[in-house]
Amino acid sequence: MERVRECKSCRTTVVEGIQDIDHELDDDKTVSEEVYQNRLDTCMECPSLAHGSTCKFSGCLVSFRAYLIEKKCPDPSGDRWS
Ligand code: SF4
Repeated sequence: MERVRECKSCRTTVVEGIQDIDHELDDDKTVSEEVYQNRLDTCMECPSLAHGSTCKFSGCLVSFRAYLIEKKCPDPSGDRWS
């Protein structure tokens, strides 16, 4: 999966994709592609997503956070990923 985004700080176009980080992480630290896609789909519909890329609660790029098995959705009203 590859997404092209405009960086919110410098307005430079950046490319982010799990293929870029996939080789950096062990499989036991990442979710399946299905779970990853479900998480991302939820984030894309979430009112707390800023700039189409960043969670307002965690400050994380959701395309990265959603990939990590240990991470949860930080919405204080409840985990939107579960
Ligand atoms: S609150 Fe949860 S669902 Fe919403 S953008 Fe953040 S991580 Fe994604």
